[in-house]
Amino acid sequence: MDMQTSLLDRLFASGLLIETGVDGLYGRSGKFEDVIAAFERLIETFGGDDGAEAIRFPPGMNRAHFEGSGYMKSFPQLAGTVHSFCGCELDHMNLLQCMAEGEDWTKDQQATDIVLTPAACYPLYPTIAKRGPLPAGGGLFDLQSYCFRHEPSKDPARMQLFRMREYVRMGTPAEVQDFRQLWMERGQKLIETVGLPVHVDVANDPFFGRAGKMLANNQRDQNLKFELLIPVTSTANPTACLSFNYHQDHFGSTWGLKTADGGTAHTACVGFGLERIALALFAHHGLDTNDWPAPVRKALWGA
Ligand code: ATP
Ligand code: ZN
Repeated sequence: MDMQTSLLDRLFASGLLIETGVDGLYGRSGKFEDVIAAFERLIETFGGDDGAEAIRFPPGMNRAHFEGSGYMKSFPQLAGTVHSFCGCELDHMNLLQCMAEGEDWTKDQQATDIVLTPAACYPLYPTIAKRGPLPAGGGLFDLQSYCFRHEPSKDPARMQLFRMREYVRMGTPAEVQDFRQLWMERGQKLIETVGLPVHVDVANDPFFGRAGKMLANNQRDQNLKFELLIPVTSTANPTACLSFNYHQDHFGSTWGLKTADGGTAHTACVGFGLERIALALFAHHGLDTNDWPAPVRKALWGA
């Protein structure tokens, strides 16, 4: 049995994660959620005094905003759309018959105005652009959302529905680059506080297709994305648990987001993969949080 399967099996056996029959779609136990809640409080001890505006979007976003973001150009393979039955009574009868015969009943489902959120920050840019130019000093936002990515896997660290906690900075290039640098340092300290080995490296997003290879290379060459890696299921292939992304003026020009002096805003975000961090903690410290090292328990629960 490979290591990935065995961690997943141990998580199921302990009840920390609950099987649904779909790879990457799991229930979470109260114990698992306690760890996520404690870790989010710890994030706030590092970032809570920066004055970020907290916003919580649901895990679905406006389809028009999703289309405008260009996500389908880069990551069509990961996107999830919400479709519904929109027919008449006759269509309903056909649907039920189709289901009863074990045929594909989903082909007549119609796209709704909602798309599953692929990253917590996607709904934010059009929302903030609509307010008008940013104030002097730019903007800082605190987000958390379930996100969907169609990447079914037996690796427990690669889920299809998972939570991302993010801080997003908007402003001048210097403002957003300073923010990203600050969080690269804070992120490492934060993870060290909970007794996990860390390593930061330049990274790229999984852009689709042949043209995507070029986009990925550009992203790496320009140091636009860094990841904080922690071994979860493998020491040879550690898992990206935090990402530090500099989008330059991509979202600023896409949404007409302006700085106070009328320039196109630059943006950056730091994203915490909350399930991945919880899994890293369980993988390193054991499946029973009562047995975790005292300093780790103190950092998370104060005792
Ligand atoms: P990967 O390279 O592993 O696919 P990513 O670079 O696409 O991850 P981001 O788009 O930067 O990830 O997402 C921000 C954070 O969300 C990541 O650092 C990671 O911790 C978490 N994350 C991304 N994909 C998943 C997933 N499938 N399951 C659980 N967490 C994820
Ligand atoms: Zn983001």
